[in-house]
Amino acid sequence: MSDGAVLHVKGRVLVGPEDVRDELWVVGGRVSYDRPAGARDITTVTGWALPGLVDAHCHVGLDAHGPVDADTAEKQALTDREAGALLLRDAGSPSDTRWTDDRADLPKIIRAGRHIARTRRYIRNYAWEIEPDDLVAYVAQEARRGDGWVKLVGDWIDRDLGDLSACWPREPVEAAIAEAHRLGARVTAHCFATEPLRDLVEAGIDCVEHATGLTDDLIPLFAERGVAIVPTLVNIATFPQLAAGGESRFPRWSAHMRRLHDRRYDTVRAAYDAGIPVYAGTDAGGSLAHGLVAGEVAELVTAGIPAVAALSATTWGARAWLGRPGLQEGAPADLVVYEGDPRADVRVLAAPRRVVLEGRIVE
Ligand SMILES: [Zn+2]
Repeated sequence: MSDGAVLHVKGRVLVGPEDVRDELWVVGGRVSYDRPAGARDITTVTGWALPGLVDAHCHVGLDAHGPVDADTAEKQALTDREAGALLLRDAGSPSDTRWTDDRADLPKIIRAGRHIARTRRYIRNYAWEIEPDDLVAYVAQEARRGDGWVKLVGDWIDRDLGDLSACWPREPVEAAIAEAHRLGARVTAHCFATEPLRDLVEAGIDCVEHATGLTDDLIPLFAERGVAIVPTLVNIATFPQLAAGGESRFPRWSAHMRRLHDRRYDTVRAAYDAGIPVYAGTDAGGSLAHGLVAGEVAELVTAGIPAVAALSATTWGARAWLGRPGLQEGAPADLVVYEGDPRADVRVLAAPRRVVLEGRIVE
């Protein structure tokens, strides 16, 4: 579009789950609900518009083996964009991807710096691997490098034990979370098992990734403290494969992973029913491909979360949680237009009709 051109979105604009309007205008890259005076050169898009989807857990600049070059990171971000994911919460990356902030054609990224893991207790080449004495210093460093989040690896397989176990004693975690909060950053942790959860929540953590180990006695604690979860069900779906791969060396770990997988939908549903904030994240960028956010929303619905709440987990609710606007007057025009009402069937998210980023239709 040339300067002065105006984009007109017609049909149903889902500003909020209950706030539905008939049209939206994009002027100078921003959302407006007033027809601009003297509008000319109008491009019209029709359909059901949502705020750009949020992938609340993915990794840009990372693949199964570690950091990737800028071209590969760009392709990852473009794949997310194609899927309508226009706001990414990067849950840890060893690459410096801050250059994407200058690219109006790429999804916006909220970074958590680089993962902080215990020595030899995470995927090789991903994390800072450190011991508890250094945790506060590393958390402070990543809080300064990130965009308001820090990512811990809360549990991982302990090869001597042959099972998942917590990576951090309570005291350094408590001090590290306090330090992050002092620096204005929120803290999240990768956790599959039940064991680390109580300490992390009581230490003040803001969010838990995966959270497959949530149990009935922990759910009220999460709800009371407002600790969010990002279940990453499209990733949990790979647990049986992982379990099969580790079966001969780590049978106890394999059985544990299978149990967590078996009850994943019940876990997510119970968390949602108790009022725990649940957000949509795919865990793309490790072993999973980018662009899977529609599949994650469908999985949340399969788990028993109502469609509107599952949509909110990738749109209105997720944006509010991350402190980013949706389709309010004056907000950057990041939106996706679909053929049908996503509240009636979230599967329409799999096929965006138009993706609009910073007011521009992207192909
Ligand atoms: Zn991840």
